[in-house]
Amino acid sequence: MMQSHAYQHKNVAVFGLGKSGMATARQLKIGEAHVFVWDDSEIRRKAAMDEGLSLRDLIAEGWPRTDALVLSPGVPLTHPAPHPVVEMAKRAGAEVIGDVEVFLKEKKAGRLIGITGTNGKSTTTALVYHLLKSAGRSVAQGGNIGTPVMDLPELDEEGIYVLELSSYQLDLTPSWQADVAVLLNITPDHLDRHGDMAGYATVKRRIFQKQTEAGVAVINIDDPLCDNIATCIAIHGMARIVPISTKQDVAGGVSVIDGLLKDHSRSDQSWTMDISSIASLRGRHNWQNAAAAVAVASSMGLTAEEIKAGLTSFGGLAHRMEPVGTIGQVAFVNDSKATNAEAAEKALTSFENIYWIAGGREKAGGITPLAPHFDRIAHAFLIGEAKDNFAATLTGHVPFTKCESLVQATERAAAAALKDQKPAVVLLSPAAASFDQFTSFEARGDAFREAVIHLISEAQ
Ligand code: ADP
Repeated sequence: MMQSHAYQHKNVAVFGLGKSGMATARQLKIGEAHVFVWDDSEIRRKAAMDEGLSLRDLIAEGWPRTDALVLSPGVPLTHPAPHPVVEMAKRAGAEVIGDVEVFLKEKKAGRLIGITGTNGKSTTTALVYHLLKSAGRSVAQGGNIGTPVMDLPELDEEGIYVLELSSYQLDLTPSWQADVAVLLNITPDHLDRHGDMAGYATVKRRIFQKQTEAGVAVINIDDPLCDNIATCIAIHGMARIVPISTKQDVAGGVSVIDGLLKDHSRSDQSWTMDISSIASLRGRHNWQNAAAAVAVASSMGLTAEEIKAGLTSFGGLAHRMEPVGTIGQVAFVNDSKATNAEAAEKALTSFENIYWIAGGREKAGGITPLAPHFDRIAHAFLIGEAKDNFAATLTGHVPFTKCESLVQATERAAAAALKDQKPAVVLLSPAAASFDQFTSFEARGDAFREAVIHLISEAQ
């Protein structure tokens, strides 16, 4: 645990009491800061009070004398408009920071790897962690994925922190300086919170801030915005760039083309590996994640053998094209994390003869962008609020069945796929949010997994 002594005897406000806000408040208090906390949710306020944290309604009760405001990344800092609490803090001269900034003030040793991008952050972070861990390195993983940074263990000089950082977290971390920083991609997302693409790209670029020639910048050069950033870093000699690509071989970098990975990022070892049959790294988007993770692992000194063994044993993350079982020739895949068409496209293009379970709370644009891939779908099973609109888009292109629930859709999809008597995939990749029927995409994926396990046990 990172006890926070940097704020000893200072006044610190913590606004937003999710997992990371609570962890920060706890550690600040242990480090003898005067901490007061607030959250708009009464349930969270009560949980904080039960832990002995002091509540203060920062807006209604007026702004107290404060040295710092630790903001949850979910609270708007700039767009669409700064939250009133941010304006009050700034007027009062308090620094506005996030938990990663507090973590950096306390971190005594260990190297820092930071990973950001619009998509693929969690997968890449988990893969980097797995590669390092399975090669016997002392490593801790956290940030936007899993454990809040303030709950990470203290590592020694040899230790390595692998942090997933969202653009919101980067916005709140002025001292950020990574030994190895990764930028996976930048596509329109969360523009409501960053103004426009230029604003969003500027924030993502901060993953490389303060790097020196000793630092490593892993950048996907297939993405024009990222490629521009790479050029800029190269001109200013800010870090050693390791380019990655899934489209072209790259000198001094890592590429994965048609599943063939080539690591040319180090002068002392150059190697190749066919990763097309690794189930947890299926699809071109995952090849991008693999290229980035290999670039990081190579830069940390892992041997080709260590990296190859780690890639082979990577289990993947739950709810992201997660294989959950098979019955005969039918594979069941849980891609519940695909809450929009762009994400579902990744799964649809990774399989053939698909019995597709889709629907939930619809996002703008629905499934119209998926039309080029409809020929891969044998039959669609539609659920949730989106089912009528999705049905309208599929009419005349893909046969579909409207279902009452996810469990019913799973049963019907399994029955139809088994009747097919050839290799098939029952794929939950909803292209819609889960909140009409479930508390989260995780709960939706868990329900699918349970239904599949039940079907498998019945089939035996
Ligand atoms: P994040 O943490 O950035 O949300 P995840 O690793 O959790 O990303 O992946 C979420 C979804 O995004 C996946 O299910 C997949 O559909 C898609 N995805 C993953 N990696 C990439 C990538 N490199 N490029 C584009 N889309 C990706």
